[in-house]
Amino acid sequence: GTKLEEELFRINQILNAAQIKSTVTGSSKLVNTPLLVENVLSMCLKEAVNNVVKHSGATTCSISIKQSAKETLLKVYDNGKGLEEKKSLSKGHGLLGIKERLEFVNGTLDIHSKNGTTLNIRVPNVIQ
Ligand code: ATP
Ligand code: MG
Repeated sequence: GTKLEEELFRINQILNAAQIKSTVTGSSKLVNTPLLVENVLSMCLKEAVNNVVKHSGATTCSISIKQSAKETLLKVYDNGKGLEEKKSLSKGHGLLGIKERLEFVNGTLDIHSKNGTTLNIRVPNVIQ
């Protein structure tokens, strides 16, 4: 599996190569987080950024990582063309893959399309 820090390094290179400006806020050093959760988050981040590069036409991509008492929230925003969630989920395997992996760790994916696309990827701190 991959740690979030390594994945952030890689996706930064991918975004640079695609000439998409990237910003990262928050710490990639996750506190009290099982390795499985970190691996799942890394895979989600990778697919989210692949989609930004492949589909969005964005000029910027912002990634934020927030840990609270309740959960870890990974946000991936791009300022591209946006998407229609229902149509999009049936087009490929990437977004469905994110949802399926998140289920293993009781996480959730929600997608917003406004001035681009935002994926909110949440994993609760306590795995029930
Ligand atoms: P793959 O199975 O290789 O991931 P895919 O990328 O087409 O194929 P998904 O990752 O599930 O499949 O994405 C589904 C669809 O949602 C895409 O085909 C695209 O139309 C749309 N989409 C996904 N991410 C974005 C984005 N950031 N901006 C605009 N459209 C997007
Ligand atoms: Mg994809």
